[in-house]
Amino acid sequence: MTQRSKEEVQTALRTVRENVSRALEESGRSDTVKLMAVTKTVPPEIVNYAVAEGVTLLGENRVQEFLEKEAQYSPDVSEIHFIGHLQTNKVKYIIGKVNCIESVDSMRLCEEIERQASIHDRIMDILLEVNISNEPSKSGFLKEEVCEAAQAVSAFRHLRLKGLMCIPAKEESHDAFVQMKQLFEELKKTNPEIDTLSMGMSGDYEEAVRCGATVIRLGSAIFGKRNI
Ligand SMILES: *Cc1c(COP(=O)(O)O)cnc(C)c1O
Repeated sequence: MTQRSKEEVQTALRTVRENVSRALEESGRSDTVKLMAVTKTVPPEIVNYAVAEGVTLLGENRVQEFLEKEAQYSPDVSEIHFIGHLQTNKVKYIIGKVNCIESVDSMRLCEEIERQASIHDRIMDILLEVNISNEPSKSGFLKEEVCEAAQAVSAFRHLRLKGLMCIPAKEESHDAFVQMKQLFEELKKTNPEIDTLSMGMSGDYEEAVRCGATVIRLGSAIFGKRNI
């Protein structure tokens, strides 16, 4: 990856924000969207360029990389979400350090987060990851399973379900986003704490905003292309 300069990150963010504003306007939305900077492979000093521009929510994919970088992030970072596949044996390393685990893809993982959160005497915010395009290679709950999973989560005293996240198949992101929005509205009916619909990445965030995303997760649109 060729590292972007401070000016390049500033310019990229200006473009992203203009595009988000336009998408909000086009869809008649009067609320706002939270912009997450996805940090994978990006050195902390470059992540901090985005923080200096007012992006205070970071998204972390890899436990090891996060633990190596976190001390170097700007104190202006206000929230960190874990968004990568999380093995149950790694929950203990991040439980006190992230504000939300977005990539909760199994009940087994819920059980382990409950166990660790209980040890740390804290309530952990989570999102359920939905395998919305039904891809065998991807993890996450099928959309038919989401309501039952949400119910099951409500029995865990140290978990607070805040909403849903997805990574749809590229060719069908519009349909996937519409379905996600429907599921989100359905869950909201029975649970007033649900307020987060995390969907949209660099290639499809404008569509996600038009479909109702409350959080968009951007890596390459801010920091440039990754090699991996
Ligand atoms: C890498 C990643 C992103 C950001 O991807 P870009 O296409 O670079 O914006 C968003 N969400 C998740 C879960 C990711 O792993």
